Amino acid sequence: MGRDDTIFALASAAGRAGVAVFKVSGPKASDCVKLLTKREIPPPQRAVLRQFRGTGGLIDEGLVLWFQGPASLTGEDVAEFQVHGGRAIAEALAAELGALPGCRPAEPGEFTRRAVEHGKFDLTQAEAIADLVAAETEAQRRQALRQYGGALGRLYGTWRADLLKALAWSEAAIDFSDEELPADAIAEARRSAETVRGAINTHLDDARRGELVREGLFLTVIGPPNAGKSSLVNALAGRDVAIIAESAGTTRDVIEVRMDLGGYAVVLADTAGLRAAGEAVEAEGVRRALARAEAADLVLVLLDGSDRNSSVNLPENMVNKPVLTVWNKADLPWPLRRGGLKLSLKTGEGLEAVIAAIAAAAKERLEGGGDVPLLTRPRHRRALREAATALERAAEAQQTELFAEDLRLALRSLGRITGQVDVEELLDTVFRDFCIGK
Ligand code: GDP
Repeated sequence: MGRDDTIFALASAAGRAGVAVFKVSGPKASDCVKLLTKREIPPPQRAVLRQFRGTGGLIDEGLVLWFQGPASLTGEDVAEFQVHGGRAIAEALAAELGALPGCRPAEPGEFTRRAVEHGKFDLTQAEAIADLVAAETEAQRRQALRQYGGALGRLYGTWRADLLKALAWSEAAIDFSDEELPADAIAEARRSAETVRGAINTHLDDARRGELVREGLFLTVIGPPNAGKSSLVNALAGRDVAIIAESAGTTRDVIEVRMDLGGYAVVLADTAGLRAAGEAVEAEGVRRALARAEAADLVLVLLDGSDRNSSVNLPENMVNKPVLTVWNKADLPWPLRRGGLKLSLKTGEGLEAVIAAIAAAAKERLEGGGDVPLLTRPRHRRALREAATALERAAEAQQTELFAEDLRLALRSLGRITGQVDVEELLDTVFRDFCIGK
């Protein structure tokens, strides 16, 4: 797969639609426009109406947009064709373009990859494009958009800049004599490295909010058999996902539903009835339910208000999780007064309040980042941990050479997040601005 190939792809979803967008990027993009329109390329960044023609004659009529590199999405010459969204049209266009030497269909993500390679985006922005496309909730969209705007890249960029400066000073201390350096150069470098380490640790200590917004908050409903857990899951998801059973303990496996609750993605796991069961299959269901609940970010305990003895014992490792207690079957006579949320899944009474309570709990769990961008992927977390570890070692390194080496490792880890790893090159530019001893 050559980097010099001209790539093309249908950028809109396949299938019938009012409009389909076809993208072409690479050195032959202008040839592609000429081939299909039989005319000269239009002025850049202006939509023009053209007829598209192939070997078999007229294919369709639509808009052509021309972007002259590097002022384009990928940094290369880019052409966009907006045609009618029919399958045969897309196929005919692809067949014409594919016949042109040096042109081939794009690999998944290849347009964005080229944009990164040409310095249009850093890696976190490229990831944000994927997140924007995948965003199902408001919180996911907002977070992806912020990252797409470069918020994470800028944050990591400031840390990199500080560390590069510290590294430059320590390199200077190795290469030059003391008289040639400012008296506190090394002390300043060490302070700066410590400040960055503190900032990284604060950033890491975010209770996984960014990742949870992206992946969805994990909500588990637990309760005794027949409390109405499956009914609740169905009511929340608004579609039939779990089997509502009349007899206790028939919901044996765990079923997951992704939902948008108050703008947050919530992944709901419907668990099997929690009860000591002799039957092997049911016991397995209970075991899985507990495992799920253990991994949950939020626990909803559903109890049967009409049953005097309705209760669950929360396992010890779950006592610190946010727990919502909901009493179901409000339509039946209740033998006792119950505190907490009151619900009838039969009549729907109280369901809105339960949804609002879950959304509020999700908001409380996921918000609080303020204007500080949150890290959104385990990949970022791993690299940041590595950077923090290297800076910890740097703080303990007595010799300047070792200190410098650890800074270098920290810089490399940080650089991996955004895709800038060439420390030496950056160091050269930073170093040039220092006036050593003069
Ligand atoms: P699970 O075992 O906790 O998953 O409970 P299910 O959702 O399977 O419900 C058990 C039984 O309780 C079913 O027969 C439901 O129709 C019934 N049920 C669920 N919610 C209510 C409710 O609010 N009122 C009444 N009267 N029955 C309910």
